[in-house]
Amino acid sequence: MSETTVRIQDDLYEAVNGEWLKTAVIPDDRPTTGGFSTLAQEVEKTMMADFKAFSEGTKSTDIPEMRYAISLYKKVLDAERRNREGIAPVLPLLKKIKSLETPEDLNKVSADFFLQGLSLPIDMDVDVDMADATKHSFLLTGPAIILPDTPFYEEGNESGKKLLGVYKDMAEKILKFSPLSEDEQKTFLEDTLAYDALIAGKVKSQLEWSEYYKYHNPMDVDEVAACVAPFDIKKLLTDLYGDNAPKVLIAYDPKAIKEMNGYFSSENFKLYVHWLYVKTLVKATACLSLELKTLGTTYRRALTGVVSDPVLEKEAYQIASSFYSEPVGVYYGRTYFGEEAKKDVVSLVHKIIDTYKLRMKKNTFLQESTKEQAIKKLSTIVVKMGYPDEIREIWSRLVFDEDDSLYESVNKIRAVKKKDMLDRLNKPVDRTEWVMPGHMVNACYNPSSNDITFPAAILQKPFYSLSQNVSENLGGIGAVIGHEISHAFDNNGANFDENGNLKNWWLEEDFNAFKELTKDMIEQFDGIEFHGGKVNGELTVSENIADNGGMGVTLEIMHTLDNANFQEYFMNWARVWCIKAKEEYIQLLLANDVHSPAVLRANMSPRNFGEWYEAFGVTDKDQMYIAPEKRISIW
Ligand SMILES: [Zn+2]
Repeated sequence: MSETTVRIQDDLYEAVNGEWLKTAVIPDDRPTTGGFSTLAQEVEKTMMADFKAFSEGTKSTDIPEMRYAISLYKKVLDAERRNREGIAPVLPLLKKIKSLETPEDLNKVSADFFLQGLSLPIDMDVDVDMADATKHSFLLTGPAIILPDTPFYEEGNESGKKLLGVYKDMAEKILKFSPLSEDEQKTFLEDTLAYDALIAGKVKSQLEWSEYYKYHNPMDVDEVAACVAPFDIKKLLTDLYGDNAPKVLIAYDPKAIKEMNGYFSSENFKLYVHWLYVKTLVKATACLSLELKTLGTTYRRALTGVVSDPVLEKEAYQIASSFYSEPVGVYYGRTYFGEEAKKDVVSLVHKIIDTYKLRMKKNTFLQESTKEQAIKKLSTIVVKMGYPDEIREIWSRLVFDEDDSLYESVNKIRAVKKKDMLDRLNKPVDRTEWVMPGHMVNACYNPSSNDITFPAAILQKPFYSLSQNVSENLGGIGAVIGHEISHAFDNNGANFDENGNLKNWWLEEDFNAFKELTKDMIEQFDGIEFHGGKVNGELTVSENIADNGGMGVTLEIMHTLDNANFQEYFMNWARVWCIKAKEEYIQLLLANDVHSPAVLRANMSPRNFGEWYEAFGVTDKDQMYIAPEKRISIW
């Protein structure tokens, strides 16, 4: 081991985090530790202690919606009952699936299957309409594939081959618990993989999904019906909506819908049924006996490099907090998030938005009318900080019976959520809804509502603390806030107006100038070597633009401070991205995550800004130098 210390001018990330990285240990039940992940672990630890106390009756909460979350937590922990029941809770459903002989049989039960969350030949959902964000639309995509992305299916893709092997092996073992004969088990599994391969040839890749402004493809219901026959979508919609069935559907993945006869037809109906049987069983294992549960996570563990499942107490908390995310988030926020911090961060957000406006005014590649539109968009951004004031009504309806099995309880919750989602179709959009719960360590921008969300859990060290100085907070949460706002103007967000509608508000010349700058950003990241692979500049461009914008706006604020410390700003920026991850997980993210690897986020962004060179005296002799003409600042 070399004793030489890394110079900050050569590798900011390593210089700041190197000592920690030497000794940090990734917990067996996680793919990563450090930064976001460490914070998430701490939140989890706090909340697990509370759930334990709730379930033992030594602590109580005045949030009524928490009652069923606590009850579900106890059901996950009831190993004795789960082991006694084994595979039994899912058998009635499997029997129903196995009895399907023809597409007509499926059409008879499709609405019922859909409400139970089973995989139909196409996936469907209700969401905010991209063209008119005041209403909802009914949308269609291809079904989910087993491997994480379509390129994994390509000839010669070794990790794809290996992962399919893991899936096959896992499903084989799980199927042994089913009532199928040995021959049937073999056929069902072969057919599942054959059907999956057919789907993989039709559905969108992650790169295509990363351009979300291209999702809006309205299709007349008759046209869809002709494409997806013999699956009878009109009957399904009538069963679900009666006379109010939608006449226009939005194909998020038009190719998968238009070419559905390539994977779903009367001839290969059996393949579909066997695929549905295996998928339903594998998904169910999470709520069955502990042996089945552990078998059922084999594939996901191989995908992420996670060594083992969490201990049952942790899993119980994770399941309860994901099914009851809003009440749990509100509990977390009310209990652990201070009003002083909330006020402080909200005022920081407004300062960042105001500074963004100033920068827009000074912008050199936009003409006045485009600038005005951009400023209008900034002025209407809604800020959601911490956790919602109220818990929406739906969460009080997620109930089940005390003596339901874990599997039955989860299905009842899912069915109510599904029905609620469907019922939205003919109702106006509720803009007060939060898309992230208070206990989540994350943040987001929502283009359809032009709002930004910062859950309470991210408003902690190293992102933010009243005990950190302003420069550190600006390099942490400040840059994250700026990042989220920049998503309003990244290659996706730029296509939406201030009301969240997909609408062009740019002068053509200005949009072309912006597109040139995005090309520069693609080039800056594309092909950077990382862990034996290469960064995909196109896949990660929206996030790289957002990082660039977040840094630009917060550095501008730094110049207005009396006591700015640029070194501390950049060092905390690097601290936020600190991560140690399993190799499998690194490879997975490199292949299909829209974010660049965290190490590069820490080290690439600063070198686009003069402040970085001044703060640490970085010159062309140093690794973290790029020539001034290569530096990019878009917003
Ligand atoms: Zn982002």
